[in-house]
Amino acid sequence: MDSIDILFAYVIGGFGAWAAALMMLIAVQGDRLHRGVLLRCALGFTLLGAGMVLSGLVDRAARWPTLTLALSAVVATLVIYRALRQLVGVPVIPRLRRWSEIAALCLLLLLAWLGGPRSFALAFHIVCLALSLGLTWAVRRALLAPRNAAETAMAATLLFYAGTWVFALYATLQHDGPEHRHLLYVEPPLLAAYGVIYALLPLLVGAHVLNLANARLDRRLRQQASTDELTGLLTRRALNERAMAWHADVLERERLPAVLLLDVDHFKPINDTHGHERGDHVLRAVSGRLRGALRAGTPLARWGGEEFLVLLDAANLDEAGATAERMRTAVGATPFAFGEERLPVTISIGVSAWPAGGVFARAVAEADAALYSAKREGRDQARVAGVDRTVAAIATRRHATAGEESHLPGSGP
Ligand code: GH3
Ligand code: MG
Ligand code: MG
Repeated sequence: MDSIDILFAYVIGGFGAWAAALMMLIAVQGDRLHRGVLLRCALGFTLLGAGMVLSGLVDRAARWPTLTLALSAVVATLVIYRALRQLVGVPVIPRLRRWSEIAALCLLLLLAWLGGPRSFALAFHIVCLALSLGLTWAVRRALLAPRNAAETAMAATLLFYAGTWVFALYATLQHDGPEHRHLLYVEPPLLAAYGVIYALLPLLVGAHVLNLANARLDRRLRQQASTDELTGLLTRRALNERAMAWHADVLERERLPAVLLLDVDHFKPINDTHGHERGDHVLRAVSGRLRGALRAGTPLARWGGEEFLVLLDAANLDEAGATAERMRTAVGATPFAFGEERLPVTISIGVSAWPAGGVFARAVAEADAALYSAKREGRDQARVAGVDRTVAAIATRRHATAGEESHLPGSGP
């Protein structure tokens, strides 16, 4: 393949880049979250396309298309680079640094341009190699610990892109023949391969950008569906989805799966007296205390308005009751402070076992029945299903008659 062919490959690549820009602009219509990223990519691809198409279509004897090709490629790569960083979760570069980098690289190319074709070709290769290595380094996490296939594909493509510049720079340093408009000094038949690669690369990167944006949207939707907006706890849906796997895992470790249902006492009067916003504040604060009273990783969901559900991995029902008691005290022992004001809040808890072969809904219904009796018997207490005394009363009695057997059904390892 000779130089005319590779210039034609640039024209094809240029139209590919414009097609990628169009894809970004269409994607913006349905993806508000990535509006900035997609618009930046569209700008980068448009610039790149202009440089590539111009270099292949205008007067082939002129030298200036070499300069516009190099400048558009470098600026476009930096613009797209910034968008990619955001897509793979790398911190954004400050605006000043970004513009200084673009200005410095353009200045370097302009100075090299004044120095003649050879120094320009070398400068272009060094800049492209540095940029491609920088890009690959920035997305190294996507290469080493990718969160999805889109990240792997993008990182692998960038690594490959850097590889092409390593070899292209080597070829430029070796070259001592005439200068080329197409700025590539690899020998045929590799030149044909470079033509194909640079013609396809913009479209490939464009497709990766869309895949990355989709993967991020998917992650965000999943997170929103599983995280309660007000409290940051699991949603009921997320807890339901995890329940079966959690149950099997606890049984496999020969522990007792237990369900705790918690409800804030007299919460409606808090809303009525202090306003709904204060009510929300209380719900967030209660959630924080509940979370703090549990081992990290214990599933805790906001089950309904002011109701919470815990999946507890316990040695026996005694231990589950003790955890319930700890949660009750964590919320009720200290009133919540709102400026000068102190607002006492208590909770009631129902505890049930979810034995092997049992149904989750039944365990929840039993915990609910225990919670109902806790409410009926005065609130601010924890009760275990099927036991007609509070957990605190049983513990006190056990303390008094040390050595006595547990009163809780299912207690014991
Ligand atoms: P009990 O001790 O019997 O549980 O009495 P209660 O007042 O807590 O029970 P009730 O079910 O009558 O009231 C629950 C209240 O929770 C009613 C509802 O307005 C309030 N609520 C539910 N979700 C939210 C929320 O997201 N924010 C706020 N501020 N209030 C909520
Ligand atoms: Mg309540
Ligand atoms: Mg309630």
